[in-house]
Amino acid sequence: MRRTLLPFLAALALMVALPTPLFAEESPAEPWYNRLLVGMEVGPTGAQFGSDPSDVKYAEKFSGTDIVAAQLATGSQYIVIWGKDGEYAYYDSKVAPKCPGLGDRDVIRETVEAAKPHNLPVIVYCVVQAGGYPLRQHPEFKMRDVEGKPIERVCLNSGFMGHLKDLVDEMLAYGIQGFHIDMLDQGFGPPYGCWCDNCRARFEKDYGKPMPTSVSWDEAWDRMLEFRYNSCERFEREILAHIKERQPDCSVDFNYHGNPPFSFEIGQRPVQHAHIGDFVTGECGAWGFGALSPSFEALFVRGTDPAAPFQVVMQRGVRMYHDQTTRPLEDMRWEMFSLLMHGAQVTIVDKTPFDGSLDRVAYERYGALFREALAKQEHFGRQHRPLADVGLFFSHRTRDWYARETPRKYFDPVYGAHETVVLGHLPAEFVFDERLTLERLRRHRVVYAPGAAILEPETVALLEDYVRGGGRLLVTGDTGTHDRMGAPQAESALANLIGAKLVRRLDTDDNHVSFPADGGDLDALAAGIPRDWPFLARGAAGIYEPTTARPFGTLYRPFRSVLQQQGKEGLWLPQSPVEAVGPAVLVNDFGKGRVVCIAAAPDTAIGGEFGMPEDRMLIENALRLLDPDPPVRVDAPRFVESAVTAGPEPDTLRVHLVAHVTPPQNTHKDRPLAIPAFIEDKPIYRVSVKVAGGVKEIEAITPTTTVTPAPEGFTAQVEDIHEVFVIRTK
Ligand SMILES: [Zn+2]
Repeated sequence: MRRTLLPFLAALALMVALPTPLFAEESPAEPWYNRLLVGMEVGPTGAQFGSDPSDVKYAEKFSGTDIVAAQLATGSQYIVIWGKDGEYAYYDSKVAPKCPGLGDRDVIRETVEAAKPHNLPVIVYCVVQAGGYPLRQHPEFKMRDVEGKPIERVCLNSGFMGHLKDLVDEMLAYGIQGFHIDMLDQGFGPPYGCWCDNCRARFEKDYGKPMPTSVSWDEAWDRMLEFRYNSCERFEREILAHIKERQPDCSVDFNYHGNPPFSFEIGQRPVQHAHIGDFVTGECGAWGFGALSPSFEALFVRGTDPAAPFQVVMQRGVRMYHDQTTRPLEDMRWEMFSLLMHGAQVTIVDKTPFDGSLDRVAYERYGALFREALAKQEHFGRQHRPLADVGLFFSHRTRDWYARETPRKYFDPVYGAHETVVLGHLPAEFVFDERLTLERLRRHRVVYAPGAAILEPETVALLEDYVRGGGRLLVTGDTGTHDRMGAPQAESALANLIGAKLVRRLDTDDNHVSFPADGGDLDALAAGIPRDWPFLARGAAGIYEPTTARPFGTLYRPFRSVLQQQGKEGLWLPQSPVEAVGPAVLVNDFGKGRVVCIAAAPDTAIGGEFGMPEDRMLIENALRLLDPDPPVRVDAPRFVESAVTAGPEPDTLRVHLVAHVTPPQNTHKDRPLAIPAFIEDKPIYRVSVKVAGGVKEIEAITPTTTVTPAPEGFTAQVEDIHEVFVIRTK
């Protein structure tokens, strides 16, 4: 069953002939962010670390006319144009210094005038946190640390809001279609703020108490975190209301920082700050967060509100936005299709050369990317309902109060969990402790809480209802073992669900687990793992005594050398196991559902430095034990990521695949901290897909793919970075 993709070629031809975007099945009344798939953000490079006004070569050629022409030539469906950063406005502003290199030109005017005949939506990028002229002209806008010393960031409770309103009023006058407002963070680490007079007064009004006098991790600091979160939300809502009052159809989105690797210091919660405005924009970057970051970002942001539109941005640079390098096309295809298949609208950020001109080769590649995305557009977008069998449970309270100032303490198990579901082809999405409902949990066939140390009573009650009604739950490591302020508690909050009492948490993290040669009816938990062989699961672990659960396998504590006991040898390098201390896994039937508790933290191991495939296999086995008959099962190499969507046509599923195959590479100077190598080749691999109930018809959209029918599904050989199978079910 092989299919030549005529619509693909037809669409390519259309893109060449008609630069105006075409959206056959969409109503033109729909706002741009609900109907468009791919677009660009274009901004200059050279003022991000300040700029001398005599530097008139900077952004000299940054031209809205040229940028719009490049959008039309590439097939970009909308343009986010740089309007204002920390140093300059890029239009004729009366309230902010204008970029001197522009001379008489006005980039927003040029952009709007060039875009209008083509109905290309123009969104203006406007920055909040960038230091620069606002803080030089108005030191009173600065955040203050606990001792009152200025921090070089804008206080969100300061008079900066008045300046921002003046700026957006100026930009709204051009007849734009939206604002992208960036950098609402309150810093990326200490010193924390803000203790300015405005914040102190507002805090006392809200809480009837003075601000805490230190980063005290107590009830007072809890109020301070709440205050910081609410300050950010208030700020966003105020500028949102201001814009909507003036132009109701102007879209507003804020750049999102509620996601890992960002933690409490930013001042955003995963859910609270995700959907203020018309949609949310997240960022990914293999350079900064690893090759799993596109998928992580999409699944995290989507989980904050599965019904809402979301955008994720990517960029061409090898290392970061402004570095003027350009990744190979296959590498960018992998990233863009990873995002699209998980339901994101994708914006490519282009940072121009110093003079503001456009990089020819980069735009050739953008053109190839957009033409392919639009030729395949019937397979993407919000009308496709993602299957998310696994709900990856994320606890912001654990992020804040368990991990505190070492966020990786919580992010390691979260990253490890995500890697496991991606490599195991288990369709997933994040689900959060904020605003959690039973209905939200029931979206998932299994809920997996990796290392969620803090589970508050209302969360536990919802999880109990979920499992009682037939839900399946996997917990690992420290999940449920800490109180809401982050202190270890004697009993697990999940004792009923796990069916075991917590005897004690181990004070070691180089713990091991092993499984017997014959595991009886729980043998599948150890599938593929060598038996009677303790392997490292580096992370938190607890000794549990079963009440109603069935124990499986053995947990071991590690040796401690005499020097380690004397404190003369560090604990970084893991030791070998010395003694069995409890069960490795507990399986408990609860109501109509089932709970698996892994007493160790194999997910933390995967997210950390010493993970092994056996760690991942144990988690994958547990998820498959809990959900042995998923609606769709994909088996493919681990370098392939998959996504499954249903609809919009009746009885139709789509299985998307993206392959990430990179050649070996050298490490850079700070070994072994390597950035990923680039994808330059189209790989060849085999995949097997099984669909519960069987399939009627299968189409692969890439001509080089060969499909062979098989019982309950099909196998295929794929020779590309991205493939999608359209499956008509029985
Ligand atoms: Zn302040």
